[in-house]
Amino acid sequence: MQTIYDLNMKQMEEMLASLGQKSYRAKQLYSWLYRKRVLTFEEMTDLPAALIAQLRQNYCIMPVELIEKQVAKDLTAKYLFRLQDGSTIETVLMHFNFGKSVCVTSQVGCNMACTFCASGLLKKQRDLTAGEMTGQIMFVQKELDSQNARVDNIVVMGTGEPFDNYDHVMDFCKVVNSDHGLAIGARHITISTCGIVPKIRQFAEEHYQYNLAVSLHAPNDEMRRKLMPVAKAYPMDELMGALKKYSEENHRRLTFEYILLKGVNDSSACAVELADLIRGMNAYVNLIPYNEVDENGYRTTDEKSALRFYDVLMKHGVKATLRTKHGDDIDAACGQLRAKHERNKTAS
Ligand code: SAH
Repeated sequence: MQTIYDLNMKQMEEMLASLGQKSYRAKQLYSWLYRKRVLTFEEMTDLPAALIAQLRQNYCIMPVELIEKQVAKDLTAKYLFRLQDGSTIETVLMHFNFGKSVCVTSQVGCNMACTFCASGLLKKQRDLTAGEMTGQIMFVQKELDSQNARVDNIVVMGTGEPFDNYDHVMDFCKVVNSDHGLAIGARHITISTCGIVPKIRQFAEEHYQYNLAVSLHAPNDEMRRKLMPVAKAYPMDELMGALKKYSEENHRRLTFEYILLKGVNDSSACAVELADLIRGMNAYVNLIPYNEVDENGYRTTDEKSALRFYDVLMKHGVKATLRTKHGDDIDAACGQLRAKHERNKTAS
């Protein structure tokens, strides 16, 4: 059954009109869903009983069901959810000093096949709907409600490639960003892409104010192709061209994500090459410690080399942050918990 979280405000108004209802009911419904955060239609006491019955017939509210939750010592929480068709997905809650961030999954599995990533171990089965992404946020927000806390930031950095599911991801962002929805500011929503150039161009043209992060992970095509097959379809010069267009048109600062892999992309020479590549762009580099995955041979760069890489970037005029690890003691690598769950399912 479709979740009512799928509907952005306009779609909600259209749906209600088709049931012969006035458009103000859409705001009422939004308020019940995203302010009062009820999980049944029966609780929406100012709606007519006939409408409640129709809504119940056509929609569910919460589309995700918790299978397992792991909490790390630093309180990073990883949720393994079941969707209504039985697919499983992961969502992560991280506690930063700038607020609580939720990392959202956008697809069941992923087809991008980055060689270092656990998500790609399971091929894409389908795209998530907008409501299935909103559901992940609402589930975590309902938990936070009991602590009087809220989801401050959203990162679309879970399993999947958001720009391979563009329309649903944009609809999801509209709902959580809407003043009538969760009212999470556009600057607090980040979409991370592996570099699907036509969609970056579309995103630039549509002037969305969400933050854009790009998984770069290598300073040149040769190295990037080995790590990320998407680089074969969209080479570096095309990618950089699209990103420059985005920066110019939107006056927004870009984030480049760069996982430090021991002996692969972490040399000083790589840092210099990276600095040359992006110098002058309105961008900074987020250096990410690698979460090791059993299935491949990649190793995390040691702290000393990570700091050296960071220093070289700074010396060459490129701003960077060196992220600390979160949820080290749980299956925190993208797709790791789900991959384990799916393996156990086939084994049993
Ligand atoms: N497909 C999108 C979003 C999902 S991946 C993208 O590629 O950006 C989110 C980020 O996590 C990407 O930068 C990805 O490269 C990184 N990542 C994947 N596996 C990782 C691992 N084991 N350790 C650290 N980062 C990882």
